[in-house]
Amino acid sequence: MAQQTQQLRERLAQIEDLNAASALLEWDQQTKMPPRGAELRAEAIGTVARISHELFVSGETGRLLEGAEAELDGDGESDDALLIRLVRRKWDKATKVPTDLAAELARAGSAGQEVWVAARRDNDFAAFTPYLERNLELARRYADCFDEFAVPYDALLDDYQPRMTAAQVTVLFDELKAELVPLIAEAARHTVDGSLLHAEVPAAAQRRLVDEIVELMGFDREGWRLDDTVHPFATSFGSSDVRITTRWDERYFPMALYGAMHETGHGLYEAGIGKELQRSPLGQGESLGMHESQSRLWENMVGRSRGFCGVLAPRISELFGSDFAALEPEALFRAVNRVSPSLIRVEADEATYGLHIVIRFELEQELLHGKLSVAELPEAWNQRYHDYLGIEVPTDADGVLQDVHWSAGLIGYFPTYALGNMIAGQLWARAHVELADLDEQIAAGELGGLRAWLRENIHRHGSRYTTDELLERVVGGPIAVEPFVAYLKDKLGDAYGVALT
Ligand code: ZN
Repeated sequence: MAQQTQQLRERLAQIEDLNAASALLEWDQQTKMPPRGAELRAEAIGTVARISHELFVSGETGRLLEGAEAELDGDGESDDALLIRLVRRKWDKATKVPTDLAAELARAGSAGQEVWVAARRDNDFAAFTPYLERNLELARRYADCFDEFAVPYDALLDDYQPRMTAAQVTVLFDELKAELVPLIAEAARHTVDGSLLHAEVPAAAQRRLVDEIVELMGFDREGWRLDDTVHPFATSFGSSDVRITTRWDERYFPMALYGAMHETGHGLYEAGIGKELQRSPLGQGESLGMHESQSRLWENMVGRSRGFCGVLAPRISELFGSDFAALEPEALFRAVNRVSPSLIRVEADEATYGLHIVIRFELEQELLHGKLSVAELPEAWNQRYHDYLGIEVPTDADGVLQDVHWSAGLIGYFPTYALGNMIAGQLWARAHVELADLDEQIAAGELGGLRAWLRENIHRHGSRYTTDELLERVVGGPIAVEPFVAYLKDKLGDAYGVALT
């Protein structure tokens, strides 16, 4: 291998090691650390992250990058070429942000989160106002560092969904909204009994079910861990050390079950990345939208399918005791696909979920671009929940204060959740073409075929390709709304016993 390229790879490997150390500190903080460890832990994470960042943005990295570019032999498809393309883009963006601003963004995000926890608990939006104003001001200054984006929002979105623009998202979301609003209205005219989901089930019994199901999906005891947490997440330190988490509610077992299936979907992505990409920026999921497509495909398209409910129901009957002895797969299928507009995004069903995201996408652009003041935000939030979901928001705690993202400075992040649903819809449709008996496999509890298909087409590539390039290879086009909507109409029509068009 050419010398400069080799040196660049060694440097990037060290940076990835530091990032893994930082991620391990964060995993520990959210699963094992006693509460009083928080103060020093923040310092430790900050120090490791700063050293990693400094190594990356240094002139030495830039010099090696230039040298490696000169050594390329014109093969744009080699892993060296794809690595250098990715690193060039990240390095150019990162080096345009002054160190002071980067540090201030991190500090303000951390302070904002702390204040948000109390503001949400006390239903006190006013206490949160100055912190959100500060985060927006810093986000504008961050966007000002670049001149290659059409609007400031694009600079932020690009951090989570590289190369995607607000204009592109708007086109997709307008189409999504136009499809979802009548679908939700139609579903609301039918009643579905979801009460069986709220029967009391001890956490120990739920754990046995979750252990079985994640193992069926590909959880490998030699390379994975499942731990308890408050806000579930997945992380990994290379493809042979995957950490997933879930939480337990004894009065609502889908919380743990579908939460674990969701995080296992993220974990399978990380576990499936090619070993040759480890310790390099290519060795991680490509975008948040692509990552979320994997979690939601497993959680919803597999986990809430008619066929898989036939796998779940007898296991639930056996493990959850007499209340569930007569559980019919059909009753479970209907209950877990119940559509009902609700206040809280993370508890929303598959159909209404998209509208929660559209609302946030619209509002955060208006805030960032100065069309809406922070003081006007709660009223605008409530109005949009009324207009789009037909519900009244009783308190800010269950309204504008429900999500952590804006408090942490994560502006431009929300769209990736709905983009993930769309991508999942595209992959689900394509998988059914290439695996003709996929539904039968799932109904038989055989998930290895789907896992192998996703690994071959998506996972193994890590960040080699952009989302659009990868989708072009697999489904023959960019992100699209239609497959997701068609899937949803088909399944909900089936569950409700009506034709949804
Ligand atoms: Zn997720």
